[in-house]
Amino acid sequence: MEVNVSRARYINHPPSQWSAPHHQSQSASSSSDSFDQYHLHHFHFFAADLIMAVDSVTSSPLGPPATEKDAKALQFIEETTKNTDAVQERVLGEILRQNAEAEYLKRFCMNGATDRESFKSKIPVVTYEDLQPEIQRIANGDRSPILSSRPISEFLTSSGTSAGERKLMPTIHEELDRRTLLYSLLQPVMNLYVPDLDKGKGLYFLFIKSETKTPGGLVARPVLTSYYKSEHFKTRPHDPYNVYTSPNEAILCSDSFQSMYSQMLCGLIMRKEVLRVGAVFASGLLRAIRFLQINWQQLAHDIETGTLNPKITDASIREKMVEILKPDAELAEFIRKECEGENLEGIIPRIWPNTKYLDVIVTGAMAQYIQTLDYYSNSLPKACTMYASSECYFGLNLKPMCDPSEVSYTIMPMMGYFEFIPHDPSAPPLSKKSPPRLVDLADLEVGKEYELVISTYAGLCRYRVGDILRVTGFYNAAPQFRFIRRKNVLLSIDADKTDEAELQKGIDNAAELLREFNTSVVEYTSYADTKTFPGHYVIYWELMVKDPSISAPRHEVLDQCCLVMEESLNSVYRQYRVSDKTIGPLEIRVVKSGTFEELMDYAISRGASINQYKAPRCVNFSPIMELLDSRVESVHFSPALPHWTPERRH
Ligand code: AMP
Repeated sequence: MEVNVSRARYINHPPSQWSAPHHQSQSASSSSDSFDQYHLHHFHFFAADLIMAVDSVTSSPLGPPATEKDAKALQFIEETTKNTDAVQERVLGEILRQNAEAEYLKRFCMNGATDRESFKSKIPVVTYEDLQPEIQRIANGDRSPILSSRPISEFLTSSGTSAGERKLMPTIHEELDRRTLLYSLLQPVMNLYVPDLDKGKGLYFLFIKSETKTPGGLVARPVLTSYYKSEHFKTRPHDPYNVYTSPNEAILCSDSFQSMYSQMLCGLIMRKEVLRVGAVFASGLLRAIRFLQINWQQLAHDIETGTLNPKITDASIREKMVEILKPDAELAEFIRKECEGENLEGIIPRIWPNTKYLDVIVTGAMAQYIQTLDYYSNSLPKACTMYASSECYFGLNLKPMCDPSEVSYTIMPMMGYFEFIPHDPSAPPLSKKSPPRLVDLADLEVGKEYELVISTYAGLCRYRVGDILRVTGFYNAAPQFRFIRRKNVLLSIDADKTDEAELQKGIDNAAELLREFNTSVVEYTSYADTKTFPGHYVIYWELMVKDPSISAPRHEVLDQCCLVMEESLNSVYRQYRVSDKTIGPLEIRVVKSGTFEELMDYAISRGASINQYKAPRCVNFSPIMELLDSRVESVHFSPALPHWTPERRH
């Protein structure tokens, strides 16, 4: 009943009252808990009125909250999702009002309009490439209001690439608050499903990455690096439900070895307190397990002697570890016993016996790691908690303990303005002149697939993210989505995304080396092999030797082709290959002449049309892989690392 009364209050509010004046909301937030702090301090959502109006919230339709703070967060989720369309309208109004003076909105003659109709009729749907001239100007130092009226605080470097380089997403300072708000909703939801998380700690492997400066002097770095380095993270209020084993000093060390080593060491020392083990993506957690496999002897030595590996030179880590690392011969012995030998099956619960679940994203491209995670964890539950991007954080999974195949994310309507292009793979490409009418968040249909289009406070307007989502249902009035796939991604091992054009370019460049042998690549396909560690790209080649009197390309030439392909791939691929080492050397498997014809025969026997058949550019169907592998004539690996530096090539 309280909720209904409050909804009525909300609906009756004139727009000007939806936003409490800043000083008011600040004074309302004397509490130190993070939800209140970010919710009331920085945001002026209508739900704030509601929360203050309700004396004490003791229950939520999502379940009984663990704490008063959780109750407020769950109440916020309730109200926001119940009023999805109204919140969306308000968010769009705010974005348009805030950026009314920006060149971009002026260019499309918005003339200060803040309504949906004007927005939809005047603003085009765009891709990153369309915005590149504006983004380049900002990167070059133009401080005039181009996309956003607020100053651009930094660039976030997406793992999506354009012309081989990471996309640069301009952001504004207040977006940090919005991201923090979404983070603050995750734990209250998790507490509904997993009790007693305040009785221990989370072993999370979190990392920062190198950052660069654009020619105009703005920092460019990944969104998580930006977040971990922010005061929002560094000085986050203590929350007994969210205590990490990793000290900030370890997370904030830019040397990935030192960071991982010290995080692992802390995790081992506090092993009995660990209640959950996580990383952002599944690939990150697997990397940590691999690290343990390689470094357990030194880690055990440090624990036995109470002295820190001299390779850890970061002064702040060394200082911090003095508090944490004490000689413990028994623990060192235990680690040696568990880690020696090849058998790491169930290593996670063996070392961290109180682990209730793994906190890692295993949806989308990460689904390929589920089996391996199950092997290392004896099939512990895997919680996928949120769905986000550099452009915008989207939403959360309201049932985080569900099976990975069942995961649906609820996009939170206060995070940005969301529109959707109905996705029909057989439809012709979008025409710029007459784009289809985009569907609003509240109007989506269950069972249908859509491409996500966002407008953000930082000034992206009707921007195509590239994700394809399927609506699985609604929570209140907010649709819930299964992540289907990223458009145009053929191969992915970590957060790298290689599309068909990039693969083709790599093949073309590599094939140049075969010219002098009068040899060409007549067919190819590819496969992301994650059975090896690290995973790597496998490219199947069928070659044609045009003039048999010239000797065929030597083994070393084909090895070199692997390297040329790697050099041609985008900078994210090369970064994971060179810096993070989470991608192994690219492999070319040369198959016998006629193999791709057999592949076609096989497809036709399964119902493919002869007229329309095209060799798949990526395969992962076992019978096809078996066929290809049974025809392999020679195998080649990249003999060296490709080039990569944090600096952009252009
Ligand atoms: P980035 O811009 O590098 O942060 O990458 C963002 C992209 O990662 C999204 O647009 C999705 O394609 C993917 N992604 C993020 N979160 C998830 C998730 N929970 N499940 C599947 N894919 C995700």
